[in-house]
Amino acid sequence: MSASGTSSFFKQVNIMFDRAAVHTPHPTGLLNQIKSCNSVYQVGFPIVRDSGKIEVIRAFRAEHSHHKQPTKGGIRYAAVVNADEVMALAALMTYKCAIVDVPFGGAKGGIAINRHDYSEKELERITRRYTFELARKNFIGPGVDVPAPDYGTGAQEMTWILDTYTSVTDNPLDALACVTGKPVGHGGVRGRVEATGRGVFFGIREACDIEEDMKALGLSKGLKGKRIVVQGLGNVGYHAAKFVEESGAIITGLAEYEGAIYNPDGLKLEDVMVHRLGTGTILDFPGAHNLTRSADALDLPCDILIPAALEGQIRSDNADRVQAKIVAEAANGPITASADKLLSDRGVMIIPDMYLNAGGVTVSYFEWLRNLSHVRLGRMSRRFEAHNARRILQSVEALVDQRLGSPSAMPSQIMPDLAFGASEEDLVNSGLEDTMVGAYQEIRDSARRHKTDLRTGAFVSSIDKIAKGYKQLGIFP
Ligand code: NAD
Repeated sequence: MSASGTSSFFKQVNIMFDRAAVHTPHPTGLLNQIKSCNSVYQVGFPIVRDSGKIEVIRAFRAEHSHHKQPTKGGIRYAAVVNADEVMALAALMTYKCAIVDVPFGGAKGGIAINRHDYSEKELERITRRYTFELARKNFIGPGVDVPAPDYGTGAQEMTWILDTYTSVTDNPLDALACVTGKPVGHGGVRGRVEATGRGVFFGIREACDIEEDMKALGLSKGLKGKRIVVQGLGNVGYHAAKFVEESGAIITGLAEYEGAIYNPDGLKLEDVMVHRLGTGTILDFPGAHNLTRSADALDLPCDILIPAALEGQIRSDNADRVQAKIVAEAANGPITASADKLLSDRGVMIIPDMYLNAGGVTVSYFEWLRNLSHVRLGRMSRRFEAHNARRILQSVEALVDQRLGSPSAMPSQIMPDLAFGASEEDLVNSGLEDTMVGAYQEIRDSARRHKTDLRTGAFVSSIDKIAKGYKQLGIFP
């Protein structure tokens, strides 16, 4: 059984792939190659716990497709991780990279541990040994396979991975690019931590900005005033909630593993986070109703439901109870293939994972490029851009002076406000926004062309690009 509670998460992904494949002209053999998982590495290794006890850790890495290299995908630490799950998540990475035109094949790794059961030192030992095992089998490297954070991991684990890889590689020059999601001081880029959640926001905003589509759902155009429920307040869920709230949406429900809270008048995200920090739970937040069964949050009345925890949350047994008009898949695989059909038949708009959470890999791509080029993004151009902007403003000022016949008083703050070059963070965020906006139009156009839903449209677009990638390799007739 996979974490989704269904027989096979990988099978679920392939059912949805097959629904889309019929809209493409590609031969069955090529489609089979595209959807199959190329390699899976499964390893068991011992670690010595702080108590002195020896424990065997089970770990995995799947490389789904090598039509582009390196392969790329996060590493997950969760109690239930298995080969099937990493294969499914790696497949989603392949399709995701194609949708946002990031030149990687898909991969995913996982270690079957609940990180809360281990000390920091134990986590370090596990992460370093896992990296060593990957390096031994050539499952990691800047041009081979590049991990990143996922569920249960973050910048700290990426630093351990980098340090371990650097100590075993014979190519230290490019070692920094062996992993992304690193802290800024260790080769990371500003904006990577919040990138997936920010991308989720851009995707939802794009969907809500199309009046025709909102009208079909009985909703008004724009994100402002939309009622939102978010499941999972980790990296992706928290940032997605933060950005949609900042743009005027109302968070009415929040769910974590300990339960959920609901207030139809709105919950202030930061206040809930402070409450959770103080009490250890989101429950009993002033003014909100408690839902002791966390999963009940999926049934709450709202306009947009954002599942941002794990896969298999909306299944055929609870899909009927979902009241949201839009389900925005921030997590990977939160809707099973059968629930996907039930929701789509009911006219619910599903913004698919393989597009919506692609912000993380997009910014990881920028980080990888930065590491390989050995230069900070914007370093070469920032000063030049600032000079240019200053020269333009000074010319405008001189023209205005000439017209008025006397020196005009340009407010002193205007020059520094306008005459600056793009910082690394500006470049990362604008590159991310551009990618998410362009990709939304692409999957929507594909869906409309084939008279189908967004997920199928996204799959078709992705399959076409991967097929082209295989053709470019020149190995198929
Ligand atoms: P995370 O570990 O930072 O956070 C996940 C949160 O979900 C945790 O707070 C956890 O307590 C909560 N949670 C777990 N089970 C829950 C449940 N049943 N109900 C409510 N809350 C629950 O993980 P993350 O990085 O935010 O990843 C979340 C999802 O987004 C995963 O599916 C992951 O694959 C996907 N994703 C992550 C990234 C990334 O950059 N981190 C990128 C793309 C996709």
